[in-house]
Amino acid sequence: MVFRAPARARFTLINEGTYNGGMLVLKFGGASVRTPESFSKIAALIEERYQQDNRLVVVVSAMGNMTDQLVRLATQIHPDPPKRELDMLISVGERVSIALLAMALQKRGLQAVSFTGSQSGIVTSCDHFDARITSVHPYRIESALNEGKIAIVAGFQGVSEVKEITTLGRGGSDTTAVALGAALGAKAVEFFKDVDGIYEMDPDAFPLARRLEQMTHGEALQMVLKSKHPVLHPRCLELAEQKGLPLRVLSFESKEGGTWVRSSRSDE
Ligand code: ASP
Ligand code: MG
Repeated sequence: MVFRAPARARFTLINEGTYNGGMLVLKFGGASVRTPESFSKIAALIEERYQQDNRLVVVVSAMGNMTDQLVRLATQIHPDPPKRELDMLISVGERVSIALLAMALQKRGLQAVSFTGSQSGIVTSCDHFDARITSVHPYRIESALNEGKIAIVAGFQGVSEVKEITTLGRGGSDTTAVALGAALGAKAVEFFKDVDGIYEMDPDAFPLARRLEQMTHGEALQMVLKSKHPVLHPRCLELAEQKGLPLRVLSFESKEGGTWVRSSRSDE
């Protein structure tokens, strides 16, 4: 099926709900892939998840502060780097991660295949460095899942209708994960972070702050809009709220803890 989004389309998805309840999106941020060893560590975690849910899409960010380094590199060449070329450059960060993660999984004997944003069918506006996802056509991901493979997707990037490579704004990989989760009818999107959940206050500044077991999308959105270091990107929360998609924030280092973000709290 060919899909064409009108110029000012609301977010539109293809095959929404096809796998209702059947698949899971895992998202790993830059902190979880700082070193070569991190890839083997998270590959072990992914293997564990794969034994429970064998339809897995993994969205990954650039290693550590690679995106910052690439932006800095660009400014050494041009004081105000042209945004199209900047997107061409910084989209490489996530591409490094997907290839290395697919290799780490294959080393464990799992079938895994990496896809760029464009190969994953993530179509965006043409606003370089701050593009918005307009539609998702995850045909290649579906085929990979049908073949029993783990699909590894580059976060933060897409392709415009005129086939330009775009990026979604800093922290945009969260939005990639939620957009794919909605398009594929995922039962949840799990975000693996260097914290074990969402806290009522910044745990660095307030060591006695309590971790929240659960909250609503709206509550999480209010919180991240006020936060200097938001635990999730506001846009991903807006999209998850609109699609009723459950999110879970948990640690890539510990099995304890976690915070669920859903349409309503179970005690409501
Ligand atoms: N690597 C990109 C950034 O640092 C996207 C992301 O991490 O979500 O902003
Ligand atoms: Mg990053």
